[in-house]
Amino acid sequence: MKFSFSKYVWFDGKFVLRTKAKVPVTAHAIHYGTSVFEGIRGYWNTKNLFIFRLEEHTRRLRNSGKFYHISLNFSDKQIKSAIMNLCKKNNLRKSCYIRPFYFVGEYGINLHVTKKAPTHIVIITFPFGDLFNKNGISATVSEWRKFSDTSTPTQAKMGGNYLNSILATQDAKQRGFDEAILLDQSGNVSEAPGENIFLVKNNELITPPLSSSALDGITRKSIIAISKDMGFKSKVRKVGKNELKMADEVFLSGTAAEITPVVKIDKNRIGDSKVGNVTKLLMTAYSNIVMNKNKKYSHWLTKVY
Ligand code: PMP
Repeated sequence: MKFSFSKYVWFDGKFVLRTKAKVPVTAHAIHYGTSVFEGIRGYWNTKNLFIFRLEEHTRRLRNSGKFYHISLNFSDKQIKSAIMNLCKKNNLRKSCYIRPFYFVGEYGINLHVTKKAPTHIVIITFPFGDLFNKNGISATVSEWRKFSDTSTPTQAKMGGNYLNSILATQDAKQRGFDEAILLDQSGNVSEAPGENIFLVKNNELITPPLSSSALDGITRKSIIAISKDMGFKSKVRKVGKNELKMADEVFLSGTAAEITPVVKIDKNRIGDSKVGNVTKLLMTAYSNIVMNKNKKYSHWLTKVY
């Protein structure tokens, strides 16, 4: 995927040239993964730039750090306005990805991270299109299992947590698939490395619960709300591995992936290898919402300009 970062970043309250924003090699986060991050999308509709669900992403950014007592030295209001102002500073007039993160700075080799550990916050942006092929991708059920809350909190978007996602992605790509699907510790379907998963069976949506170690995805929640409005039933319940190949349709959901159809899982073709009707309807509804073409959901969007 080709992308180039925008010129400016926001670093501890100031706009800095990205090439001048430096972190010491002794920063704790580089050694131990003590960083907290979010992924947010901005949508450009040729006139306006809208940020999708800024409120929810900012809340999750704060809550992730709480699991580890990692301090966030700015208020939600300051972070939201920094995100908006950074988009303006970078003169973003394209759909974009926004990555706010904070991390433990110089703290020796101390594993006893407390609220007193020094932290830094950075926001970066870059123009961003589709993450995956929206005509459908292939996936494989990974041998790597999703970690559970008995090891590290699954609801914390921490840098260190993503080593599990990296292993599953490496394995999937090495075996020729576009994406991995991870099972939870009990062998039920959990999620993809950076996306939630939905199955469609008999026009009903099914997605695994948080107790299957799935992230409480903001896109997942949005899809549950939109599908209800469209008259579809949805169930949050445990999903057995064998249900995947029996599904009429499967799709992934996430900020970066938006709604991405899965048309092949291991050796099994899903829905004749074509994008399913329910998935198609949801993709259209979602893209209308993020472009502010459906006023009912305008409150999910924050206008930059
Ligand atoms: N699961 C994981 C592990 C993720 O990293 C993400 C991306 N944040 C998601 C699911 C989807 O979450 P969201 O819809 O909030 O982007």
